[in-house]
Amino acid sequence: MVSWEYPTTKETLYSCEVPTAPIRLTTIVEADAKLKPMANIEYLDLQINPVGCPVGKYGLLCHKTCICKNGARCHGFNGACKCPPGWNGVACDIPKQDVSITTTPSDPRDIYISANVTFHCKTHHVDVVYLSVILPNKAEKVGFGVNETGFVVPNIQPTNNGPYTCQVRDTRGNTLNTTFVLKVTNCAPDTKGARCDEVCGCLQGASCDRWAGCVCPPGWTGTRCQTKCPHGTYGQDCAMNCACQNGATCDKNDGRCECEAGWYGMDCSKPCNNGRFGWRCRQICACKNNATCSNVDGSCACVTPWTGRDCDQWQTSRDEPLLESLVPLGSLVLLVAIVMTILYKTGILACSAPDTGDEDKILFELRRMEQDLAQSLQPGWLGRWEKKIRHLTPGPLIGEGMFGLVRKGNLRTPEGELAVAAKTARVEDSQSYRDFYREAAILVAVHQQRDGDCRESNIVRLVGLITKSAEKYILLEYAPKGDLLGFLRRIINVNEDGLLGSLLGYAVHIARALQELERLRIAHRDVAARNVLITADDVAKLADFGLARDVYAANQYVRCNRPGVDELLPLKWMALESIETGEYTCQSDVWSFGVLLWEITTLGKDPCYDGRMQLSFLQMVGILRQGIRLEKPPGCPEDLYRLMRSCWRDVADSRPTPEEIVERLLQLRRALLPHDVIEMETVV
Ligand code: AMP
Repeated sequence: MVSWEYPTTKETLYSCEVPTAPIRLTTIVEADAKLKPMANIEYLDLQINPVGCPVGKYGLLCHKTCICKNGARCHGFNGACKCPPGWNGVACDIPKQDVSITTTPSDPRDIYISANVTFHCKTHHVDVVYLSVILPNKAEKVGFGVNETGFVVPNIQPTNNGPYTCQVRDTRGNTLNTTFVLKVTNCAPDTKGARCDEVCGCLQGASCDRWAGCVCPPGWTGTRCQTKCPHGTYGQDCAMNCACQNGATCDKNDGRCECEAGWYGMDCSKPCNNGRFGWRCRQICACKNNATCSNVDGSCACVTPWTGRDCDQWQTSRDEPLLESLVPLGSLVLLVAIVMTILYKTGILACSAPDTGDEDKILFELRRMEQDLAQSLQPGWLGRWEKKIRHLTPGPLIGEGMFGLVRKGNLRTPEGELAVAAKTARVEDSQSYRDFYREAAILVAVHQQRDGDCRESNIVRLVGLITKSAEKYILLEYAPKGDLLGFLRRIINVNEDGLLGSLLGYAVHIARALQELERLRIAHRDVAARNVLITADDVAKLADFGLARDVYAANQYVRCNRPGVDELLPLKWMALESIETGEYTCQSDVWSFGVLLWEITTLGKDPCYDGRMQLSFLQMVGILRQGIRLEKPPGCPEDLYRLMRSCWRDVADSRPTPEEIVERLLQLRRALLPHDVIEMETVV
């Protein structure tokens, strides 16, 4: 057991590092009462909530000693003494003629109806001739020549409420007085009624109100809070209606939904996706050949001519008729394809793509993916960014992805030629089509929201869109230094003074990009060094909002093992909840940001969990559920690794916000950079 004292002034989250080797968390095995090691602890988070200085201390860090005498209390911040009756002066050490009246119980909140209350009237440094207490009913209790007097009021009632004045006359004829006002309204704990003589007997820790009886905690009802909220209701007085869908049960306390197998989301309205099914979408579908998988039990609905439990068997009995019907059908398809190609080549079809109705179609697709995103787009969003294909001169290839290519290009603008990165998309397959418009829509939404904000954004700048030609482009500002991953891997002088400090500057930029996205309530879903670009001015910008799952696909993305949903996922960058349920949030981006920090610190190494480079879905979940995380890179400052670990907390809400990350990174950076660099940056 380790304990320590650490003066603190504000609410702070402290992380406690415990050495792994000698300390083990143990549990007692019931049968033989042996100690069995449970787990090693490496990190422990403590939430410390300071409430004030200890007795006799004051100041911001409670390091100053209080000078107050005679039992006086000391003000926590400035040390000023609050003198008790009978004392005066800065240190409460100068006697003062005084009179005081107190009660037992001393705290008025502890005085209940029917309690016996004692009143104490006391003089301090007074030569008393005459001492009296005047009661609310004007009756007077008098004492001669005594310094104090006391009396009991048994079974106190509201009729005893009012002022109790203690009055004293001294030998020189001076009169001093003080008054205590009694205001008793509450019954004793667990009693109620006009005379406080009925017992409440509340259950579930409910409080007992004099008039209302038991005030039940959320989720309970009944005179003694003995009944759970009826089905479909929850909360205080069971007044809220549950929003849970698809047979989910609703937490009686806060209405949170516990989804049935096959469903997830706040109200359990979303069916498992990404080829998952079952409780918390933990199981992976085995259906083959474009079969539809039931989100509830994983059963497969096959498409002809496939059959079998996993739809992986050919329906042999109908081979011949099927073949017969397929041959003419095949010829027809071929004919249509030839005609379409001719029309396309001659330009009849080539320019018919997106027009006015197209925006609605795209919005519909976006709404299916992200309601918020679709809502943040104003009508005409697509057209406002449209550029002409003839104004673009495509140049060399600078990046390649699974669903698109990136070329350097020149765009003719009224202001002159502008270097751009032109991202193309193969929009003929539905996934690429969605990815293309999702990226375009996010960039438009971000730029729309920033309208009028002249601060530099840390999201790659959208220059325009080309959607009205066969070849579609997203035109972005050109970042000549390429992506961060390549940049990190090209660093030669790895021992350069202040290198990590200056690289953390890029991390600060990306944390700011996450702040921007958080404001827009957009999750990026693929925060990683490969998706960060470095501009000519050395600013890191977040890019790749969904188009190109790129050239690293082979080793960075794991193919979701299901035909039908052929998706590549960046497993090693993904938050636990995203892997388990396919749900992405701004907090899951924070998790990925932690991995990006790890990439920066290792100068672009491939993340490796538990010594393994390639991991399946289930292996990854198992590893993360055991609490295993990426290891501290050699030479990584302790505080920086702690920040990474906080990004990888299981509970998404307990991860730091992008704003907190920026603040902590700036502190870390200041500690790592040489002084002259910081001064230079401050001047800039
Ligand atoms: P992305 O599909 O956005 O991940 O882009 C694939 C690759 O193309 C990136 O890793 C970069 O090397 C390059 N690239 C993408 N956008 C730009 C840009 N705006 N400026 C320079 N290079 C880019």
